[in-house]
Amino acid sequence: MPTPHHPDVVIIGGGILGCAIARYLSRLPGLNITVVERHGLGEQTTSYAAALLTRIRPHQALTALAMETFRAIEEMGQASDEPLPLRSVGSLQVSAQPNGQRQLEETALRAAEAGVTAEQIAVQDAMQLAPWLDLTPDTAALWLPDDGYIDPYSLCMAAG
Ligand SMILES: Cc1cc2nc3c(=O)[nH]c(=O)nc-3n(C[C@H](O)[C@H](O)[C@H](O)COP(=O)(O)OP(=O)(O)OC[C@H]3O[C@@H](n4cnc5c(N)ncnc54)[C@H](O)[C@@H]3O)c2cc1C
Repeated sequence: MPTPHHPDVVIIGGGILGCAIARYLSRLPGLNITVVERHGLGEQTTSYAAALLTRIRPHQALTALAMETFRAIEEMGQASDEPLPLRSVGSLQVSAQPNGQRQLEETALRAAEAGVTAEQIAVQDAMQLAPWLDLTPDTAALWLPDDGYIDPYSLCMAAG
């Protein structure tokens, strides 16, 4: 019979990855899980992240993982007294290079397949969204309004 001193699973490190693994494994009934952390939970690399959250990635599997992140954030927010501090400020991708513009078109296609809003916008609109960008008229711009960022420490603590 497992006891707290004889766990089934030991996770070394209580950053976002260790806490996320612990959270998912804890759904398996009867599994005794211990997270070993030499500092405080979420205090190391995790706390330094910009924690940008984008939904559409270069590969379908990564997009699925990113979408799961958003779903988990919503689920954890519903389970606590208040929603997690996800700021849906959107993300803007720009390129004046043909290769980059092709990538933006591919991202727009992948977004459409995944049911995520992605708008190809005029360069003037991009500069209104981000006035510090000095864009040339041949720049292509893609706006994903549902992307954002989150406080990484709060996310880690909610998962842990
Ligand atoms: C400036 C910056 C910006 C970033 N921006 C983004 C971003 O926008 N989007 C994004 O997705 N990612 C971003 N990242 C990356 C992201 O922060 C890391 O990928 C993520 O935090 C790694 O999580 P982790 O749990 O592996 O590591 P950590 O958070 O470092 O956790 C590892 C933990 O293991 C513990 N540990 C290590 N060895 C032992 C041991 N022997 N015994 C006990 N405990 C141990 C450490 O104390 C630490 O707490 C950014 C990172 C930085 C630095």
